[in-house]
Amino acid sequence: MPAANDLGNSLSVGVIGAGQLALMMAESAEPLGLELSLLASSADDSAVALFPAVSFGRALDEAAVVAFGAGLSAVTVDHEVVSLEALQRLEASGVYVAPSSESLLFAVDKAFQRTRAQAAGIAVPDFVVVSDIADPAIESFLAQHPEGVVVKSARGGYDGRGVQVIPRGVDPRPALTNFLGAGTVVLEAKVDLFSEVAVLVVTGRNGHAVCYPVVDTVQRDGICVEVNYPSSLSDEQVLSAQKLAATVASMVGAVGVLAVEIFVTPEGLLLNEVATRPHNSGHWTIEGTSVSQFENHLRAVAGLAVLEPQPVAPFVTMVNVLGGDAPGDAKAARAVPGAHVHDYGKEWRPGRKLGHVTTLGDNKEDVLERAWHSALILGTPR
Ligand code: ADP
Repeated sequence: MPAANDLGNSLSVGVIGAGQLALMMAESAEPLGLELSLLASSADDSAVALFPAVSFGRALDEAAVVAFGAGLSAVTVDHEVVSLEALQRLEASGVYVAPSSESLLFAVDKAFQRTRAQAAGIAVPDFVVVSDIADPAIESFLAQHPEGVVVKSARGGYDGRGVQVIPRGVDPRPALTNFLGAGTVVLEAKVDLFSEVAVLVVTGRNGHAVCYPVVDTVQRDGICVEVNYPSSLSDEQVLSAQKLAATVASMVGAVGVLAVEIFVTPEGLLLNEVATRPHNSGHWTIEGTSVSQFENHLRAVAGLAVLEPQPVAPFVTMVNVLGGDAPGDAKAARAVPGAHVHDYGKEWRPGRKLGHVTTLGDNKEDVLERAWHSALILGTPR
């Protein structure tokens, strides 16, 4: 018999999508007594081998998602590219869906997120939503922002795809025309970045929320390459970032992990992105805190109590392993002292996120050096 949560429900939890997040959810689920199942698009997907029950189907296939979720007590996601109609139907039939179809929209649609955040009084970069190159709002926005702009597809982009930073003096119209060919666009002021930070808030079904420590995220070409705890923010800024994340979490109505990416700028903290699921900026919590983002996410989704996370070392670094010129040497990478190497089981391809390495310790430079040493051995480009 499956275990039951505080609400008396059995804990059959389905995960839609079978990438590395589903893989790490499965790895963290063991102590929770959940009955896990997975909707994968292919037998080659990272997480397939770790789930006791696997169905095959596309996350955008409404009928496949409904058939997968029917009869489960709760459903969550590995990524956002999921049929919202299917989630709505599951919600209507009494399956607990977290993130809900409404919350997910904040992560799926940058125009929706920016518009709702601004209406809620949350600081965001100046922006305008456009769907036609002839929209006069474009010319007035460009005139107001000679410092440069960023062109973003409202939907469909991730890891920097669907985002183009246009520096001062470069005409953004060709990029705009190009992006508008694929749908609605958010045209945004290019802000001066001191740094980028991220905060995870995990909210239980009962509304109780916990907040993870703020981390610095280092991006290259729109891809996160490195995450460092603690962040370089002042104590006051840390509190502001956590407050901002909590405000965003209540706006989104998130249950489970909400990852909030924040720009640190001369004008203060500005909301960048939200993800309504475990996030790359939280992979360090597997070894670096008392309860990982994956365990806390599943706890929330299943209706169990979410736990207050405590860092377990003064410094933690996570470096993403990206495909380089050739596959690296996994054995040598694991032999780097204290390197926790996570392999997502994906086929090597240049630029692809293949895994990550986490290191902990008392000395910031040493922690950073060991994480990179291991990731470089794995072939990650510097
Ligand atoms: P994605 O959805 O692909 O993660 P983001 O919207 O987070 O895309 O943008 C990717 C990166 O582009 C950010 O991490 C940041 O470095 C840069 N960027 C995005 N928006 C702006 C902006 N308004 N000003 C300056 N840099 C930006």
